[in-house]
Amino acid sequence: MPVIKATTKNIRKAAALLREGGVVAFPTETVYGLGADGTDPGACARIFEIKGRPRFDPLILHECSAARAGKLFSRVPAPARRLMRRFWPGPLTLVLPKSAAIPDIVTSGLRTVAVRVPANPVARALIKAAGRPVAAPSANRFGRLSPTTAAHVRRQLGEGPDLILDGGRTSIGVESTIITFRSGRPVLLRPGGLPLEDIEAVAGKASAPEPGGDKNPAAPGCLKKHYAPKVRLRIIAGPEGIKPSRRAAYLAFSKRPAGRWKASAVLSPSGDLREAAASLFAALHRLERCGAAVIYAERVPARGLGRAIMDRLKRASA
Ligand code: AMP
Ligand code: MG
Repeated sequence: MPVIKATTKNIRKAAALLREGGVVAFPTETVYGLGADGTDPGACARIFEIKGRPRFDPLILHECSAARAGKLFSRVPAPARRLMRRFWPGPLTLVLPKSAAIPDIVTSGLRTVAVRVPANPVARALIKAAGRPVAAPSANRFGRLSPTTAAHVRRQLGEGPDLILDGGRTSIGVESTIITFRSGRPVLLRPGGLPLEDIEAVAGKASAPEPGGDKNPAAPGCLKKHYAPKVRLRIIAGPEGIKPSRRAAYLAFSKRPAGRWKASAVLSPSGDLREAAASLFAALHRLERCGAAVIYAERVPARGLGRAIMDRLKRASA
């Protein structure tokens, strides 16, 4: 399973692999995706195997244009259409009634499908060259930290994918925001790379999904425990009352902690939530590997991309 640079030639090679039923890891602006032909049930089955992902957790289909993406839905409410026009390409996934042609394995048998148009130029060129929707969840083992570099993918999935396209570090760094609609109103299924404030300005106030619990969740894969590093993670308000220790790691929002730690990371020295989101997973990957017994992670303000960061930290600590 070679890691190759995402050159024009290699993107073409990857697209050919996708058309033959292969599985290719590639960069998007959110995190690295593990892609397969979204019209080929056998190819999609390999995604579940490589990730160790349960079959009840549906995949997101990626398209190269809003026009093509819209064809994957059978019905699009007006505010959803406004979101598509305003935010595609970008880190927004819409869950709407699916068109008949989509295989059941993609949607885990649901009547709705999740669709996104990524903005990353490598992702778009790859999907365009493949000439079909590409099913792609994050390129990590199920439940573990998401990958924001090709090296993260390699470390978790090893020989699994047929190819890993290296397009450098992803720019947004957290997964897409997932929105569905109920009675014409937006429902937030997962906070992510597109701030909720931006979505609400276009589609109106969003509600939380009706709680279904982990047995029957509104967004099936969004389990309480997810995005988890291998070591325990504890969310804290700040360094006050936490004793520095050579056996613990510290994940700070903007200010490097005092004292001696096994390792520490600062998400954004200037306190910028976008920058913090972009560095989140890389910092967690590093801290989980430093040999500490516990990671202390500071809360960040729960606005803008801070919502997605807090969501990931809470699931990592569950
Ligand atoms: P990932 O591709 O790993 O970012 O995860 C995709 C997530 O999208 C899944 O875990 C689900 O939570 C959500 N999702 C995908 N399809 C649907 C759907 N039809 N209905 C609700 N949520 C969905
Ligand atoms: Mg994922």
